[in-house]
Amino acid sequence: MDLINLTAAEIAAKVRAGELAPGEAADAFRRRVDAHDAAVGAFLCLNDRDAPATPDGPLAGVPVAVKDNICTDWMTTTAASRIIENYRPPYNATVVDRLLKAGAHVIGKTNLDEFGMGSSTEYSAFFPTKNPRDLTRAPGGSSGGSAAAVCAGFAPLALGSDTGGSIRQPAAMCGVVGLKPTYGRVPRYGLIAFAPSFDQIGPLTRNAKDAALLLQVIAGFDPREATSSRRDVPDYVAALERDYGTFKVGLIREFFGDDVAPGVKAGIENALRKLESIGHAVERAAIPSASWALPTYYVTACAETYSNLARYQGVLFGPRADGYDGPADMVAKSRARGFGGEVRRRLAAGAYALSIGYRDRYYAKAQTIRQHMRVQFAAAFEQFDFLVYPVSPFTAFKLNTRNLDPQLMYLADIFTGLANLVGLPALSLPCGFDEEGLPVAIHVMSRPWDEERLLALGHRLELELALPRDAVTPQV
Ligand code: GLN
Repeated sequence: MDLINLTAAEIAAKVRAGELAPGEAADAFRRRVDAHDAAVGAFLCLNDRDAPATPDGPLAGVPVAVKDNICTDWMTTTAASRIIENYRPPYNATVVDRLLKAGAHVIGKTNLDEFGMGSSTEYSAFFPTKNPRDLTRAPGGSSGGSAAAVCAGFAPLALGSDTGGSIRQPAAMCGVVGLKPTYGRVPRYGLIAFAPSFDQIGPLTRNAKDAALLLQVIAGFDPREATSSRRDVPDYVAALERDYGTFKVGLIREFFGDDVAPGVKAGIENALRKLESIGHAVERAAIPSASWALPTYYVTACAETYSNLARYQGVLFGPRADGYDGPADMVAKSRARGFGGEVRRRLAAGAYALSIGYRDRYYAKAQTIRQHMRVQFAAAFEQFDFLVYPVSPFTAFKLNTRNLDPQLMYLADIFTGLANLVGLPALSLPCGFDEEGLPVAIHVMSRPWDEERLLALGHRLELELALPRDAVTPQV
C-alpha cells in the first residue's frame, strides 16, 4: 500500500537511486489492479510484457495507464468501439514512445466512451467504468478509465485525451488532477482522431507535480504531426518552485450562475479565498460568448467527426457486415453494426451541420463564434493572468441516469468545451468535497503556452488546500 501512495516523482527517484528494484512498482500496482479492477472496470487490456529491466530516465520504473485511443503496437487499441475491437496498430503513438524512452512501464489500456464521445464512460462498447469513490456513480468521461485508475491507485500516472473536457471532467469526478495542454503542445501522432482541431493528449495524476513531470516527457515537436509546435519545452517541474509573484485571477461570471450546484460553488469559493490568502487578486471576468460554448462545440466537433470517421467502413478498418447488396450497402451495414448509438448520433448531426443549405447556418456560424471567443479570451488575458470557474456544474452522477438522455449528458461539458474551442491550456484541480463527500474541482485556464505558471499556481493552491491524496480503495 505504501508504494501505491508514492508519487511518480518519488518512485522514479527511488528506482534511480537503487532503493526500489526495477519492476517492483510495476508488480505492486499490478497486484492492486488484480485485486480491485473487477469492481472498477478501468482497464480494457493489461500489459503482459515485463517492466523495463534497467529503467532510467525521468519516469524510471513508473507505471502509466494509457487511454485506449492511443496507439500501442503490442496491445490492441480499440477506442472502446466494436468497429476496431481487434485493432493492433503497426506503430506506437509518439507519446507512448516517449513514455518508454523515459523509463516508464505502460501498465495497460484504459476504458473510454466510444471514440471519446461521452462524459461518463458508459458509452464504451464493452462495459462502463465505475467511480472508485462510489461504485454506483460514473467516473466521468471520456477518459473515465484513466481517471479511475489514478484515483484507485492502479497507476500513479495516466494519459487521457481531451476534445471537449475528457481529461478535466473525469479528473474532477474522481478527485484527481487533469491537464489539457495548449493545442499543439503534445503531438497527436497515434491518437485516434475524434475532432482533430480540438483533440489534445494530457496527463491525469494525483498531484500537480506529477502532472508537470508527465507533461515534460510527452510535450514537444514531432515532425510526423503537422499541428505539433516547435516551441521549446520548458522545465515544468523546476517551474513549480519558481516565485512568480502575485497574479490577477478572473472568475468567469457566465460560468458561475444558478446552474452550478451549491456544493460546487462552495468548493470554488473556498479555493478562491485560499488564492486571496496567498496574495493573489480575484475579480469577476466576462467572456460574453462563453454561454454559446456548448452548441458551438457540438456543431463543430460533430462536423469534424463526420469527416474523420469516414475511414471506418469495413474496407481498410472495421469488420465487414455480411449479406450486403453492393458497395454502398456494404458500407452502410458495416457502419451500422460497428458504431454505437452515440457515435451514430454524432455522425448524423455532423452530416446535417455540413449539408448544403445548412452549412452556413450551423458550421460556418459556429466557426464565426469560435473566432469571437478567441478575440474575447485574448482581451481577457490582457487583464488577467488566469481565468477560473468550476470544471463541472455538478459532482459525480449516478450510473444509468444521464446516459438515458443525450442532452443531459452533453450538459456535463457545458464549461469544458470552451478551452478546446480556443485551444488554451486548462487545469482541473481538486478543491474540496460537496455535502455528499464527492470531489469538487476548480478549472484554471492560462494564456497559451503558459503551462509553467499554470502548474505552478496549481501546485501552490494544492499545498494551501492540503486535501487527502491517497489512493482510494473501492468499497464493494
Ligand atoms: N464529453 C465531450 C463529448 O462527448 C468531450 C469528449 C472528449 O473530450 N473526448 O464530446
